[in-house]
Amino acid sequence: MPVPLPTLDRSATVLVAGSSGLVGSAVMRRLRAEGFTSAVGIRSSDVDLTDARATFGYLTSLRPAVVIDAAARVGGIAANDAEPVEFLDDNLRIQTNLFAAAHAADVDRLLFLGSSCIYPKHSPQPIPESALLTGPLEETNVAYAIAKIAGVVAVQSYRRQYGRRWISVMPTNVYGPGDNFHPTRSHVLPALVRRFHEAVRSGAEEVIVWGTGAPRREFIHADDLAAACLHLLAHYDDPSPVNIGVGEDLTIADLVVLVAEATGFAGRITWDASKPDGTPRKLLDVSRLLATGWKQRIGLAEGIRSTVRWYADASPTTDERPRGQ
Ligand code: GDP
Repeated sequence: MPVPLPTLDRSATVLVAGSSGLVGSAVMRRLRAEGFTSAVGIRSSDVDLTDARATFGYLTSLRPAVVIDAAARVGGIAANDAEPVEFLDDNLRIQTNLFAAAHAADVDRLLFLGSSCIYPKHSPQPIPESALLTGPLEETNVAYAIAKIAGVVAVQSYRRQYGRRWISVMPTNVYGPGDNFHPTRSHVLPALVRRFHEAVRSGAEEVIVWGTGAPRREFIHADDLAAACLHLLAHYDDPSPVNIGVGEDLTIADLVVLVAEATGFAGRITWDASKPDGTPRKLLDVSRLLATGWKQRIGLAEGIRSTVRWYADASPTTDERPRGQ
């Protein structure tokens, strides 16, 4: 088991790269709630991390003690399929520049956020960290996954060659305030929140959902993920990545019921089986995370209710919609 680390210094400068995204903004909220007085968030409009010179200049002048890397070009299946060059190239550049600059700035603790899509398509369920690089990836997001795998290897390499106490984490499906609620290009949970909320608002009697409802997925609230990241920075120091999930999944049909309840929708639900189901099951093995003493706080039903409230408040009556990264 990893050796417990000294508690993170609340006055240390903590840099959050990608602070406007779903995960980065949750990390910023958590840092503030935990009393970190020198948390700095940057988004791509502040510092272009694909630009090596800009990244080096910024990091070597800020000299943070801790870096949390939540910066990435992200998107759903359609975007990944249409722009594999950008998904590979931007993510590799962001990581290479940020890690090299963090090394130059002598950053002691760095946490790299990967993704559960780095695991082979036919991994055992629940997926242990040891499944990494044991088989072919899902074809539709191979460019993104390869970039993220390169990030894991880079973190391991900085550890081995330079003794850096840097770590990688692999979150399951994340949801929460600030998510991408695009009607067709978002993931299932925000898509359902929007569709059911709009149905209630317009008085529609029917909501159409995709697939058969049979696939199983696991979801973690962004605030729980943020808490797990800070917990691991304080309690984990090992080259192997750590999965971050809740250890439980549910069918899409059960998820639909939870979202319908949270929005107050009482009409008819129709399944559009012409839409793909995707992979039958995706659940992470979280025994390594749980062994560090971390516990989930936000149950799915409660997390969905608060996300629905957030969406209802943030969603204007015009065509403009809240957008996450
Ligand atoms: P995945 O986890 O990579 O497969 O990505 P998604 O979150 O997009 O889809 C998960 C499952 O939810 C699939 O079985 C979809 O068919 C199903 N689903 C049901 N309704 C929707 C919807 O409105 N949007 C999306 N994205 N998925 C939906």
